[in-house]
Amino acid sequence: MDLSGRSLLRQLTKPVRRSTLTFQLLALSAVCAGSLVALGVALGGLSGWWALDESALGVATGAMALLVAMLACVVPAVMKPLQQLARLMIQVSRRHDYTVRASEENAREIQGLAGAFNGLLSELEMRDQRLARELAEKSDAQARLTLMAHQDPVTGLHNRHYFHQAVERAMAGNRHDIQVAVMFIDLDDFKQVNDSHGHAVGDELLREVARRLTSTLRRSDVVCRLGGDEFAVVLHIATGSSEASHVAAKLLAALALPMQVSRQTLFAGASIGVTVASPGEVEPVEMLRRADVAMYQAKTESKGAYRVFEPTMTVHTSRRALMTQRLRAAVDCGALRLVYQPVVDALEHRILRMEALVRWEDPELGSVSPIEFIRLAEETGTIHAIGQLVLEQACHDVRWLAQRTGLSIPVAVNTSTAQLTHPGFADLVEDTLAAQGLAGEMLELEIAGTGQITDWPAAAVQLAQLHARGVCFALDDFDSSFAAVRGLGTVPPDRIKLDCRRAAGAGGNRTESAIAAATVALAGALGIEPVAKCVETAGHLELAIRLGCKAFQGHLFHQPTDIGTLAGRLEMSAGRVNPGA
Ligand code: C2E
Ligand code: MG
Repeated sequence: MDLSGRSLLRQLTKPVRRSTLTFQLLALSAVCAGSLVALGVALGGLSGWWALDESALGVATGAMALLVAMLACVVPAVMKPLQQLARLMIQVSRRHDYTVRASEENAREIQGLAGAFNGLLSELEMRDQRLARELAEKSDAQARLTLMAHQDPVTGLHNRHYFHQAVERAMAGNRHDIQVAVMFIDLDDFKQVNDSHGHAVGDELLREVARRLTSTLRRSDVVCRLGGDEFAVVLHIATGSSEASHVAAKLLAALALPMQVSRQTLFAGASIGVTVASPGEVEPVEMLRRADVAMYQAKTESKGAYRVFEPTMTVHTSRRALMTQRLRAAVDCGALRLVYQPVVDALEHRILRMEALVRWEDPELGSVSPIEFIRLAEETGTIHAIGQLVLEQACHDVRWLAQRTGLSIPVAVNTSTAQLTHPGFADLVEDTLAAQGLAGEMLELEIAGTGQITDWPAAAVQLAQLHARGVCFALDDFDSSFAAVRGLGTVPPDRIKLDCRRAAGAGGNRTESAIAAATVALAGALGIEPVAKCVETAGHLELAIRLGCKAFQGHLFHQPTDIGTLAGRLEMSAGRVNPGA
């Protein structure tokens, strides 16, 4: 007796095979049931596909193969398409090629099974494509991130991060016949360009600077923008600091040439700090510090120059770095205060107005002169915050003084040219006056360094707006800068101020006294009031009166004091400040 599986099945299905229809129904039920199992397993695998990888498809394929093996014994008529389907499943499972499709030209039930499998394949193919797309996007994003991490978006140069790595790599080199030079390049007066012409022009200027640096150096040199108006260079040199000095001079010459930016001719002079060392001789971080120190030294001594680092430079420049940091903190925590110095008239020495002068007492640095920290603030951009603080405090004190003494005394606030050309400055001043309920006439802006203004029309617009509100303005140290004369035509001031010590020809300088006389004559011709400041002695006062000055300010009358002390004195003297009192 044949006891093989096939004959056993034949025996078992003997009664059934007699009826073809019944048999076919049974066979199809088995096929459908099996398909559902296989499909269920496959779709189950598909839903967990990301987590399970293609193993679910493998399970489905295994289930299908088993089913086919079983059915092969039952009905050879459905065998061929099922075998083809099973083979396709195995192929897909092995090769992960989801683009193939099963033939759907078989009997309807098998067609349904093939259709379901094809649907499954389509789904897998779509997921496969989506995954490929996502991977490509991810790798693009990764590449962009890597680029951004190393590239300055404005100029396309390498950035600070890359620069640090470049210095580290250069200093880790082992060629002792070659030295490393690091240069810090800081643009002189870039802030002025930004303030006067706007950020778009500023950015264009930075790009032009980048082009000039790159074209002046070799391809192997590393040029970076560290941020703001700071650039840096790392290069290998063979003959020590003389070669580095030569390169620095070449860079300065390239940057000194006029630049055509947005149809304007601009200048971007720079100061360069240079340091040279052999690989391994100093730590990379020390190289950066030395280049920084040398750069500040160059900037302090004279703009448009380069300096090679020397150890004696350190003390001076570390004070500057400390001051920059402490000044920012002082602004943030309101550590700046104001003192006031009266300006009096000639006849009765009645107080006409008072000048607000900012004071900074730092726990570490001690009392720092405004001449020093205002210049630093202008260079670092802190001047806008300081200017606003001073303006708010001065307006507040004017109101307080009026309430306390009944005297309405206008205040003169020193204003940097950078503030004047800053967009929105006039609105800010108006808002500050309004916040204290003050009329424009209670404020005068004292502007020093007008020679630095490159964009007179922009300054004129701001001043005209304020003038219309009654705000006066004075040109300070008018006699010390003939560039200020240019401003007279564009924006005629209400007053000019000149230093009595200079006018008196301090140190026997007769030219100075002639300039003072001419300045007062010019002011008189234009209907501008001349004010004498730094009146220290009776001789100064006499000279100032002789020159034709109408108002006076100086230690002879009053030292700058806090508002409380000034209020007490004004109460006692009914608004007069007598010389030497
Ligand atoms: P400035 O506007 O010319 O102020 C007059 C300076 O001369 C003040 O120095 C004042 O204390 C001093 N002074 C007054 N009378 C006499 C005198 O009879 N003899 C002498 N030798 N000096 C006298 P200070 O307060 O040190 O200010 C120096 C400069 O700092 C100011 O010169 C001004 O340009 C700037 N500054 C002061 N406060 C501010 C401020 O709030 N903002 C801005 N942007 N600059 C300010
Ligand atoms: Mg002043």
